[in-house]
Amino acid sequence: MEDFNFVEELRELLSRYYMHSKSIERELFQSEKKYKLLLEKLTDAIYFTSADGKFIEFNNATLELFGYSYEELKTINVEETYVYPEDRQKFKEIISHKNEVVDYELKLKRKDGSMLDCVISTTVRLDDQNNIIGYQGIIRDITLRKRAEALQRAKDLAEQANKFKAEFLANMSHEIRTPINVIVGMVHLLHQTPLSDKQSEYLKAIDTSADNLLMLINDILDFSKIEAGKLVLESKHFSVKRVVDDLIKAIRFKSDEKGLDLIVQVDPEVPAAVAGDPLRLNQILLNLVGNAIKFTQEGEIRVVVRLIDVVKDKARIFFSVRDTGIGISEEKLNSIFESFTQATLQTTRVYGGTGLGLAIVKKLIDMLGGVIMVKSTLGKGSEFIFELEFEVQQDAGVAMPEPENAADIPILEIGACKIILAEDHPINQVVTTETLKHVWKDIELLVVDNGQSVIDALQQEAYDIILMDVQMPVMDGLTATRKIRAELPAPANKTPILAFTAYATTGEAEKCLEAGMDDYISKPVNPDALCRKMVELLDRFGYFSERSKQLIDAGDTGQIDLDYFNTITGDDIELKIKMIRIMLDETPQEIKSLRSYLDAGNWEGVRAVAHKMKSSMQFLGLPEVLELVRVVEVSAKEKTNLHLLEEKVDRIALACDTALELLNAELHKLEHI
Ligand code: ADP
Repeated sequence: MEDFNFVEELRELLSRYYMHSKSIERELFQSEKKYKLLLEKLTDAIYFTSADGKFIEFNNATLELFGYSYEELKTINVEETYVYPEDRQKFKEIISHKNEVVDYELKLKRKDGSMLDCVISTTVRLDDQNNIIGYQGIIRDITLRKRAEALQRAKDLAEQANKFKAEFLANMSHEIRTPINVIVGMVHLLHQTPLSDKQSEYLKAIDTSADNLLMLINDILDFSKIEAGKLVLESKHFSVKRVVDDLIKAIRFKSDEKGLDLIVQVDPEVPAAVAGDPLRLNQILLNLVGNAIKFTQEGEIRVVVRLIDVVKDKARIFFSVRDTGIGISEEKLNSIFESFTQATLQTTRVYGGTGLGLAIVKKLIDMLGGVIMVKSTLGKGSEFIFELEFEVQQDAGVAMPEPENAADIPILEIGACKIILAEDHPINQVVTTETLKHVWKDIELLVVDNGQSVIDALQQEAYDIILMDVQMPVMDGLTATRKIRAELPAPANKTPILAFTAYATTGEAEKCLEAGMDDYISKPVNPDALCRKMVELLDRFGYFSERSKQLIDAGDTGQIDLDYFNTITGDDIELKIKMIRIMLDETPQEIKSLRSYLDAGNWEGVRAVAHKMKSSMQFLGLPEVLELVRVVEVSAKEKTNLHLLEEKVDRIALACDTALELLNAELHKLEHI
């Protein structure tokens, strides 16, 4: 085309759309050769068309963009490269009004039919009389950018969806827990009323289902928290052996029920104190040992913990959980740690479960920087092994004063303990009140529904313990605790506070402790766990020693209640006298042997005497002493909390002294009837 001055046209086009680039502008004023070079160097497509849309001149990038050869493109009309005719229509409208189109986004078609996302900027070419003689433009392929943007958008959306999902699950499970809390509590209370065998059976089924539901919700919640990166690991001093021992104690009843041997071997070289997250270690082991028991019908479960090495204060510890159960097929072994995976389709039907346990285990071990592996032979058994690294704590003394293992301790009698229950949910108020009153008949319980009322009550009189919900109207539990600790005079400011936390809310437990609460229990509150925690807390705050002192002062220790004794012996005065004589004779002997076995560290002896003493304490109507004797028996049997035995035996001896005096008086009375 003769009237087409390429260099001139190009200069105009480039200067119009690349004005921002000084270097290009400078080059524009160089030779034609340079223009051509520049044109070919550009990655954007630059083209000139006739008034009817035929390609006249263009650079290499244009050919690459559309995938045509030079000759082919010369025969093509721009219109043919548009994917959507409406884009072309709109383009024409703009250019007819403004003589140019800037940064117009559209989809163009390549020769092979594939589509491109492009941005086009075009201007008209006019002759001297201002007639349109053609168009010139620049096309930039933004397919990759668009794709990246779409990906980013999808990623943002997915992340947001994940966050919503985690939040939804957290809220949902929180909401589901409230009614389950009520079910668990009410079932517990119903269990304590007279029931026919059938009713008991139905109730047990409800109980099991509520427990399963709770476990399921906890699993889903943990899983979603890990997924959303919201699970925070703790770092505190603890003993690995203790975590393992406690866990085995808690779960042994399950293996006993199935007649399986549960064997534990903790290498004595495993450091006594390490820093890490005991809760998560417990969760991992609980899952693995739970599965091992679940999938084994006969034989044994063996839990082994060994020290691999210690390098620069870091101990690598090896854990193995091996069973002689059904095993896992080779093809399933690879996917066993994926979420919602069960080895066979029948697994849920036969064994229950969600297929989330191992996925959580794997994720937790990943988070803790460890590795897990599984070996298994179908029909023979499985072995899960994992390795974790913990920082060794040199000062074992610091690590050891952990709270007593609550599961070992029978629930102690707490007498006329004064308790404030701060809870705004009316059903929870009833459940907790009934539960506490059922376990401890003599307690004095004040129920309030907000934190301010707790403060008001403490200003009126002293209480032994406060059970405090966190979320309450008027004043929440955290604020109330801070105020109690900071603003109330002693001793009210020292009252032990046990928080009821919502499991679903991340970090709530930590907030409770920070606010000055002494311990927490997560909702739904397990009645047995609640009572044990209360005893533990009361004990920690010296409630029992204080109380026995008060009782001694009041001459009240060992106050006997012969109701039970009288029921057993009926009107038989001779039998009564005979039994009292036996008790008067034997009890001091028993206490003596208790002490000497204790001094000799003969735990079996301590256990046997404590066991024998239980019936006398029951006859004497000394429930508190009976509980103490039970504690001593369990402690000696399981060799736990041995350091606390001496004090307990002292308390038993003290109570028995007074009881025996009263018994003597009773004997005297009977002998003179
Ligand atoms: P579930 O809730 O189903 O137990 P898990 O994630 O804990 O979920 O386990 C996934 C599957 O792996 C189980 O359903 C079971 O088929 C298999 N599995 C796990 N542990 C064992 C084991 N010790 N012996 C045999 N199969 C096991």
